[in-house]
Amino acid sequence: MRIPSNPLVLIGPAILVVFAVSFAAVWVRDRRHQHLLFLGAACLLFCTGTLSQILAIPDGDGVNAVTSALIYTVSVLLLSDGLLRRSGARLPWVSYLIVPALIAGAIAYFYYIDRRLVVRIYLLNFGYGLIFLATAWRLRQLRGGRLPEQILFWVLVAFSLHFFPRTVLTVGATPPAAGDFGSSPFWLALQFSLAVLGVALALAVFAVTVSDMIETLRKERSTDHLTGLSNRLGFEEAANRLLRDARAWPICLVIADIDRFKSINDTFGHPAGDAVLRAFAKLLKETARRVDLSGRLGGEEFALLLPNCDTAGGYAFADRLRSIVRQTRFEGLPQSTYVTASFGLVIASRGESLSSLVARADKALYQAKRSGRNRVEIDAESLAAPAPARMPS
Ligand code: GH3
Ligand code: MG
Ligand code: MG
Repeated sequence: MRIPSNPLVLIGPAILVVFAVSFAAVWVRDRRHQHLLFLGAACLLFCTGTLSQILAIPDGDGVNAVTSALIYTVSVLLLSDGLLRRSGARLPWVSYLIVPALIAGAIAYFYYIDRRLVVRIYLLNFGYGLIFLATAWRLRQLRGGRLPEQILFWVLVAFSLHFFPRTVLTVGATPPAAGDFGSSPFWLALQFSLAVLGVALALAVFAVTVSDMIETLRKERSTDHLTGLSNRLGFEEAANRLLRDARAWPICLVIADIDRFKSINDTFGHPAGDAVLRAFAKLLKETARRVDLSGRLGGEEFALLLPNCDTAGGYAFADRLRSIVRQTRFEGLPQSTYVTASFGLVIASRGESLSSLVARADKALYQAKRSGRNRVEIDAESLAAPAPARMPS
């Protein structure tokens, strides 16, 4: 073991420990963000690699070069994997065997068999630069994401690219003298750039993590947990946005209510009722177009907002859904039991608020219930007036 003459060299590893602990602390609060464990482990390993070089553990230049290269390589892979996992991708697990084995093998070769420090430095730096570049390439869709995602992407690109010119400029073709490697321009530039770009990368990851958490909370707040559809709040927010969009007009609102749902609960039990609600929501989602908004307003009442849809189109859609529900065999219910739903349909009119639109659709729905259920009723005003083709001014 070698005690460093300048204790300032320990600042880098200390910062890495702080980042590792912070990533782990955020993960403990919300274990869904599993990628944070990978990032934390990457920081911790990188810190270990740096300490192994600074403190000369294990002792002996050759064994230290191979060991630290091995640790750095796994750390680089964990960092890449963590970033990929945040976006739902991942590194194949064999890369944790192949890449470290290749790099450590090459380092051992260029130490024990053909001793060339320059080659070892280029191998590590260009290797890591390439791994990060490949990661950035796989994450290229972040360019079009939220602002923190865009920042993370470009910091990652800068971090990946810096490995190349830094190595060429500070090493060139002559290796640092073995005796004062620790004070060579290569080592100092490496420490400086890792401190600046590495910290920038970690901060960008934190910014993205905070933004991910806000996004998760926002989604949870507006999602119905039983069906996975938007809840009333989520539906209203999205519907108000759509109603303001001139390109969406004419807009049709359909309210669907399962018939005699109370008796399904009473006869087959609440869990069977829940299963019907889930299956009904699935049918609704499958029948609707991608542009349509769907939501569970509460209980067994659902809403659909259909952009670019007039009375005839809305009716055709609601009646198709009605017929599909009637023909579907619901899990948890006996074969002989069928489920039906009633529908109220309305076309948005000039300057109308969402609540007024829902109230009119509710009235039509009530009419459908009174007329015997398992049917679609169109609100009287929507039948009389032609659908407004353009956004009301
Ligand atoms: P109608 O044909 O007139 O609509 O009759 P209905 O029985 O469907 O209507 P009602 O409003 O009388 O009953 C709705 C029932 O829905 C009552 C309530 O217990 C049940 N319900 C509400 N939310 C849930 C839920 O999350 N799960 C289950 N299983 N039942 C629910
Ligand atoms: Mg009902
Ligand atoms: Mg109801």
